[in-house]
Amino acid sequence: MNMNEQIKLWNEEAQASNADHPHRKVELFIEVRDGALESIASYLIQQNYRHVTLVEDEHTSAAAGKKVAEFIREAGLTVDVVRLPPNAVGDVIADETYIMKVLLGVADQSQAVLAVGSGTIHDLVRFVCYKMNRPFLSVPTAASVDGFTSAGAPLIVDGSKQTFQAVPPEAIFADLSVLESAPQTMTAAGFGDMLGKFTSLADWHVSRDLGNEPYSPVANRITEEALRACVEHVDEIAAGSKTGVEVLMNALIASGISMLMIDHSRPASGGEHHISHRIEMDFIAEGRKQVLHGAKVGVASALLSDMYRELAANQDVEAFKVYRTLPTSEQMRAWLAQVGGPSTIADLGVTQEQLDRALRTAHTLRDRYTGLKYMNEHQLLRS
Ligand SMILES: [Zn+2]
Repeated sequence: MNMNEQIKLWNEEAQASNADHPHRKVELFIEVRDGALESIASYLIQQNYRHVTLVEDEHTSAAAGKKVAEFIREAGLTVDVVRLPPNAVGDVIADETYIMKVLLGVADQSQAVLAVGSGTIHDLVRFVCYKMNRPFLSVPTAASVDGFTSAGAPLIVDGSKQTFQAVPPEAIFADLSVLESAPQTMTAAGFGDMLGKFTSLADWHVSRDLGNEPYSPVANRITEEALRACVEHVDEIAAGSKTGVEVLMNALIASGISMLMIDHSRPASGGEHHISHRIEMDFIAEGRKQVLHGAKVGVASALLSDMYRELAANQDVEAFKVYRTLPTSEQMRAWLAQVGGPSTIADLGVTQEQLDRALRTAHTLRDRYTGLKYMNEHQLLRS
């Protein structure tokens, strides 16, 4: 079954269970295959887009952007290319400066925008497209994050990371030969973002039971199955093979769809994401080069899993039973290391002091009930 057929079934299942939780009908066209880039031009013609904008950076231009622009021009369509320059430390970040660069690059006549890159370029494009009321197409250049299908854009505004309303892509073209050629650290980051679902899904049960927050069994299951597929195929993902990146990309898309369906990040983002956002804000404040989102999430999830398991063992709280099913921190670090990503906070370049601060403040970033929030409220963090 391909992803489009799969989405149809998920939609039906979600609509049937609307009593538990309202579900949005997910409508996007997805191609995850070798040679997917070649389908883009015919898709544009079919949608009647004669003039489009392509947003890339220097790396993603070489990986796919140039080729995509060529295919579009060969089809007789007009494409304006916006190449985002790196900042002083060599990053492209989703902040006010880059939002402005994308805004300025989208001409009035442009009918759609293509995001060619990983998470950051997608966040910039989805936000600008929302504000300019244009559709956007996703062309991932690495299986590095589950945010491709997201409707929210995490942006850095005044140095603080907040999620803003934006639009999901109308279509995704994930070319396996492009994903396979991506640096293994990017693939490892995508795997880390997926591994984080162990703690985010467990936290969702706790949000539901202790925080009275909405819960959807369908969205939970979609994410859980995607996570399981990644763990089952860890050897292929570690090898960075076509099979590996295909399993991972499908899992990342599925995770994104579960969020899209319920219009919330609950299934995919718990305490581990809050810690990651906190660390990211610290790095920005210090003007340091960014560490990939999924790399931070994977390490934070591995760290939290033993803390959560301990919480379940020591606190007589029914809701925490779910934490007993988490893999050990040791197991999670072994998986992260196997796929070629960082597995400890030292690998991330995070000091113990920064970590302590993150553990004590991360839960204040989002209005969510998590095990991490409970530990802070009950002063259970060791000093
Ligand atoms: Zn994530």
